[in-house]
Order: sequence, then structure tokens, then C-alpha cells
Amino acid sequence: METAKAISDLRFKIKFIFRAGVWKPRTRPETFQGVGEPALEWLQEVKRTYGVPVATEVATPEHVEAALKAGIDYLWIGARTSASPIAVSAIGSAIEDWRLKIGDLKGIFIKNPVNQDAELWLGNIARLEKTGVPVMAIHRGCGHQPCWSMAHKVRLARPDIPMLLDPSHMSGDAAQVPVLMGKVAELGLDGAMIEVHCKPFEALSDAKQQISPDGLMSALKVLNDATKSPNDEPSAPNDKELNWLRAEIDELDERLWDTIAARMDVSRRIGEWKKAHHVAPLQPERYKEIVDRIKDKGDFALRIWEIIHEESLRQQK
Ligand code: PEP
Ligand code: MN
Repeated sequence: METAKAISDLRFKIKFIFRAGVWKPRTRPETFQGVGEPALEWLQEVKRTYGVPVATEVATPEHVEAALKAGIDYLWIGARTSASPIAVSAIGSAIEDWRLKIGDLKGIFIKNPVNQDAELWLGNIARLEKTGVPVMAIHRGCGHQPCWSMAHKVRLARPDIPMLLDPSHMSGDAAQVPVLMGKVAELGLDGAMIEVHCKPFEALSDAKQQISPDGLMSALKVLNDATKSPNDEPSAPNDKELNWLRAEIDELDERLWDTIAARMDVSRRIGEWKKAHHVAPLQPERYKEIVDRIKDKGDFALRIWEIIHEESLRQQK
């Protein structure tokens, strides 16, 4: 298969791990929940046939036991599990117990918690480091927002551990995956976790974010061209500091525009209500009440609010 050959060529430059979620933490119970334990045999087959290390997601001590017994090389802890320190500690204890008996776990990836909480992510890294297994962070954003400031905090606090980007879950959009791969190089991240499906539109989970094997090749090429060789020094986050800060500020700008657009939408609905009830767009008492409130925030805030309000009135006419 051409794709398999191209991937195995790239492997000499990029360390490649095959990921597949056997147990899927889905939002709704009526959706596909993963195949469960029988699918661990599929991962064993991938490992035997292609000689690549394999990874799966664990959310309970039972998952850890089954995965380690099946010889899974890497485990990852998903964003929902990462929101619970008790669950992460229980997984850590199970890794300690079973690894001694079974052996060869090469690494644990910990995703950021779904809620934007850098401290909890750092706490989870520390919880898992107790196992003695190498721990790596995966930045997957919060929902479909990048939350760069959270990742930046963790990168600065723990420059000694690798951080990967998960462009699939961060964007929830296949078209954005290659675009976000550029961030891996820009921010000096150490790799990426990407979801791939042979027939993306038929995927049973997150179909919109799946890329095809060909799409994976393009995404890997972006990364390969932009990544240093494995013999180079580990990335120094300070070289990339300005890029991190720009990622943070670009995201804040995006949120600002989204908030203004949401505000305009409410304002238009207020306009419709006023029309239906024969109320004039500008109500002096209401105007004064808002200005008094915003004045406390200073002149700059008032100037911005006045521009927004003027546009709101224009839209209500
Ligand atoms: C996954 O990696 O398939 C997954 C469910 O990710 P997350 O925990 O980031 O949502
Ligand atoms: Mn997924």
C-alpha cells in the first residue's frame, strides 16, 4: 500500500505511533462507544504487521490492566478523564501495579482537561510521573477553542516534558488539521496526535474531524519539513516565546469578534421587539444607566462601548 510505504519512509525522520481509541468517552449514550477489549487484538495485529508502536486511551484501572496485558506501548488519558484528579490517580496506581507485573509501557500521554485548567493539567502530569513511566502532554484545546494561554502556562512550567498538539480535537474540522500543523513548528511543540479514517464520512465518531490517509501524508509532510532532526537539541520554548504570545493574542481577538457578533445578534432581536411594541430604538434612561456602569471601567472602555452601541442603534433602525 502506497500510504503504508510513505509512512514507513517518514518514520525514519518522524517517530510514528499508531493510535486507536478502543473505549470511547462519548457525550451521548446512544452513540458508538468503541468496540472495547476485543479491539485490542486489532492493535496487536497492527504492531505485528507494521512494526509500529501502538497507543490507546484509558479511562479506568480496568482499561489499564487490559491494555497492558495486550502489550499496548503507549496509553493516553483523554480530556474528559483528565478533568477528574481522582480518576487520573486511580489510573496512575493501576499503571504502577500492572507495569511491574507486565513490563514494557513506553509512555503516558495526558491531554489537557476539557475545562481550561492549566493547574489541573500540571497536577495530572505530577500524578502520572509517580509511575516512573515517561509522561508527555497533549494540547487538544477546550471544546473547539485552542486555549493557547493554558498550553503556554504548562509549556513554561514544564519545558522538560514533550508537548504534542491534537489538531483534530482542537478544531473539530478536517480542513483545519493541516493548518494547525504549522503551529507545531511555530510554537516548538514536539509532535502531533491526529485522527485518521479510511473513509472519513463513514466514521462512527467525530466524522467531521477525520482526515484520510492521503490527508495524513500532507499533514505529516508539513510537520516533517518544519521539524528539526531527532539529533538536534530539544526545543527551547523561549525561542518561540513571541509566537506563543501571538497565538494567545490572536485567539483573544477572535473571541472579541465572536462576542461582538453575538452582541449584535441580541441587539437585532431587541430591535425587532421594540418595533413590534412601538418603542423607539434609543431609550435615554437605559443609555444613561449603561454609561454610568461603563464609566467606572475608564475612558477607553467608554469609547469602545460607544462605537459598538452606535452600530447597534444603526442595526435596530
Ligand atoms: C480521542 O483522542 O479520541 C478523544 C476522545 O480525545 P479527547 O479526550 O481530546 O476528546
Ligand atoms: Mn476522537
